[in-house]
Amino acid sequence: MSNHFPVDRALFDDVMVPNYAPSAVIPVRGQGSRVWDQQDNEYVDFAGGIAVNCLGHCHPALVGALKEQSEKIWHLSNVMTNEPALRLAKKLVDNTFADKVYFANSGAESNEAALKLARRWALEVHGSDKSQIIAFKQGFHGRTFFTVTVGGQAAYSDGFGPKPGDIVHAEYNNLDSVKALISDKTCAIMIEPLQGEGGLISPTDEFIKGVRELCDQHNALLIFDEIQTGVGRLGHLYAYMDLGVTPDILTTAKALGGGFPIGAMITTTDIAKHLKLGSHGSTYGGNPLACAVGEAAFDTVNTPEVLNGVKAKAKLYVDGLNAINAKYNVFSEIRGKGLLIGAVLTEEYKGRAKDFLIAAMAEGVMTLIAGANIIRFAPSLVIPDEDIAEGLSRFEKAVAKLAS
Ligand SMILES: *Cc1c(COP(=O)(O)O)cnc(C)c1O
Repeated sequence: MSNHFPVDRALFDDVMVPNYAPSAVIPVRGQGSRVWDQQDNEYVDFAGGIAVNCLGHCHPALVGALKEQSEKIWHLSNVMTNEPALRLAKKLVDNTFADKVYFANSGAESNEAALKLARRWALEVHGSDKSQIIAFKQGFHGRTFFTVTVGGQAAYSDGFGPKPGDIVHAEYNNLDSVKALISDKTCAIMIEPLQGEGGLISPTDEFIKGVRELCDQHNALLIFDEIQTGVGRLGHLYAYMDLGVTPDILTTAKALGGGFPIGAMITTTDIAKHLKLGSHGSTYGGNPLACAVGEAAFDTVNTPEVLNGVKAKAKLYVDGLNAINAKYNVFSEIRGKGLLIGAVLTEEYKGRAKDFLIAAMAEGVMTLIAGANIIRFAPSLVIPDEDIAEGLSRFEKAVAKLAS
């Protein structure tokens, strides 16, 4: 086989399943919060690989951990345990409410484990009637068939035949809608402590505490999907820590590996014991390379400097976006928390978030969207302040081009 064929965007349409529509730009290297494409054009990265690259690109701590582990041992399977997995698990339990960890390779798999555990717990502790799972409209929990059905967008779960059953959806920030569904047959409530894909929606204090109370009243487990909000994204190690609400099960992925695929489901001893020997598993879960990088990411993020830095950098974004809006009047609201920020387009620009993303890319700044009306920012937690300023000034140029 010859290697002499053009490796470009057109090749994607030739050889890839058409479930994505990637940008025309193909990045080839990154350093910190800057990225370069095949033509050596440079971009400021405000997208962070969708809230994954919590320490930017090629952070020395992560590169060092990966290199070091890559020369020791790559893979063992769960027939044996390994030092990086044990170390990362210890750090996760020492720094959270949890006592036990299950490692997976992605967010969806972490949620799949959480949901299966909740169902098993309910079956063993309360009997086979207790299987209802309550989740939320516009919620997102991944793309396995169970998790996408729990997610609150039927468009993503329709069209694949019969769905996993006994899953219902309430309205986020509407406690009455949860009350109307919950009963002693409810096994678990799965919720994002800030809806990410669904539009950067923060829970009200009354709502999130009310959800916890309803779970307690009905002996249902509370599962926090912190796949997007966790590992410092909102300015705390996990979002629950700032909400005054502790879940029974928490899932974490995305930033946990800083760009290396890893996820985890964490819970208490009492619940964990229902995931008995042989009841669940994964070939790669707890892989030494993934856990070594995860440990380095966790250690680096879990410091007052980085976590307080998130709050300070978030202010730079909010102030900068408000200043842009004062000139061009394109946003109705800047929302979100920490470094998970959404700029909501006004009625006039409704449905055009993708146009802003494309225009921003052309000016040299990578952004994200959340639905058709929100431009989303999920940069590195350690993005230099100068890069924020430079990226916002490029973003302003894009806004200027689109604003009438
Ligand atoms: C990204 C995301 C997932 C899915 O994670 P994958 O790694 O893509 O499987 C699940 N839940 C939330 C809240 C997410 O943001």
